[in-house]
Amino acid sequence: MIPGNLEKVRTDIGQLEHQHQRDPASVTLLAVSKKKPLSDIKQAIEAGQRAFGENYADEGAAKIAELADPAIDWHYIGHIQSNKTRLIASHYDWVQSADRAKIIERLSAHRPAELPALNICLQVNIDAQDTKSGCSAEELPALARLTSTMPNLVLRGIMAIPAPSSEESEQRKVFASLRLLFDSLRTDFSSVDTLSMGMSADMGAAIAEGATMVRVGTAIFGQRPS
Ligand SMILES: *Cc1c(COP(=O)(O)O)cnc(C)c1O
Repeated sequence: MIPGNLEKVRTDIGQLEHQHQRDPASVTLLAVSKKKPLSDIKQAIEAGQRAFGENYADEGAAKIAELADPAIDWHYIGHIQSNKTRLIASHYDWVQSADRAKIIERLSAHRPAELPALNICLQVNIDAQDTKSGCSAEELPALARLTSTMPNLVLRGIMAIPAPSSEESEQRKVFASLRLLFDSLRTDFSSVDTLSMGMSADMGAAIAEGATMVRVGTAIFGQRPS
């Protein structure tokens, strides 16, 4: 089931890249494995998947420690409580949900010296949803500058989770505005190369508008327990 699902998602990504004049392999697939057992992750690794996303700091850290596979890239994509920055900075390769100065400073301070710099995407609350996570588009430049000055962090780009919409035209409008933010960030910071947007339900619109990374859970691993 998981290998077949992965194959289908990869085929879809390839077709979308072609359809929207994107370079082959210009979109990275992040497999979102939150609430899924290690046995599922191992199946995906067997099928060639290398990048995984987790939303719960402790659950993900336990899986990372248990697998202990240096060939896997682990991305933290969940809300960050400041008392979890040490755990996150010492286990993960990427954090895609950095959204405020205090968290950025703590992630850098807690990144172990023997590890390479922690890759950071700033999470943008693009459609001003009433959620706890994500900075505003106005706050983005200052947070990007702060991240770029941190010794143990490297600014890679932005991540967003727009409000779900069943209209592809609506999805594309929001993703297009993220693309503009990304392009402007990229002109200011040469380390920026990642526009993380699109999930199982809106991956097509995201790739059409320039996503370089899509984060897919359900379409690979099936429904999650609630
Ligand atoms: C759960 C989650 C995903 C994956 O969502 P699916 O709809 O299962 O593909 C992607 N990104 C984030 C930040 C998530 O929390």
